[in-house]
Amino acid sequence: MRKLAAGNWKMNGLKADGLALARDIVGRAKRQSLTCDLLLCPPATLLAPVAEAIAGSSVALGGQNCHAASSGAHTGEISAPMLKDAGCSYVILGHSERRTDQGETDAEVQAKVVAVHKVHLCSIVCIGESLAQREAGETLAVIERQIAGSLPEGLDSNALVIAYEPVWAIGTGRTPTVEQVAEVHGHIRRLLATKAKDPAAVRILYGGSVKPSNARELMNVRDVDGALVGGASLVAADFWAIAEACS
Ligand code: PEP
Repeated sequence: MRKLAAGNWKMNGLKADGLALARDIVGRAKRQSLTCDLLLCPPATLLAPVAEAIAGSSVALGGQNCHAASSGAHTGEISAPMLKDAGCSYVILGHSERRTDQGETDAEVQAKVVAVHKVHLCSIVCIGESLAQREAGETLAVIERQIAGSLPEGLDSNALVIAYEPVWAIGTGRTPTVEQVAEVHGHIRRLLATKAKDPAAVRILYGGSVKPSNARELMNVRDVDGALVGGASLVAADFWAIAEACS
């Protein structure tokens, strides 16, 4: 399956930085064609300039969140149709930072997935255990609960990407072993049978401290179909090296 290298810029970048980063990635994509898909998810303020910078290239645009409603009295929120209108083809949903900072629940994530699919965009649904849950041996049960609660049934496989992101690996420099990654990704693939029409075709990304130095090892694990990259996606050369490892 063609892998996906996705950059989650989080709440980083003013216009000049974001434009420079996007243009750098586009330049690399024009010079060297990779066999993976490339996706940039800038903060909402940079969607329009980044959309312009990537126009005509193979790089796709994604949002970092959306509201479950398509419009209405929700000050400060952005809907899935608005993200589509801004040029997005993907939306990250249920990132652990939103689950922690905004208290997002599985049910809320599921409502957002439905909203994203209504406008034919692809959801990247983030799941993953905390350190306490891993140490208590609850990882697979947590994953099962999050998949059951965060995904509607009967999803088209090309409209869904799962990102396995152990909370304790995000921004910490720590990563699970390749055996741990393989175990969780295999479990996710089996669980998807209850949710997706063609579970084998759903891309399952690994995320959490992916760097140029560990990307190749992680991307070679069975059932790892790409990377969701935070910190390293803010440095064009690092993101590109990770994308090369996805190719
Ligand atoms: C993320 O937040 O999605 C992420 C994977 O972050 P980092 O790569 O910085 O660990």
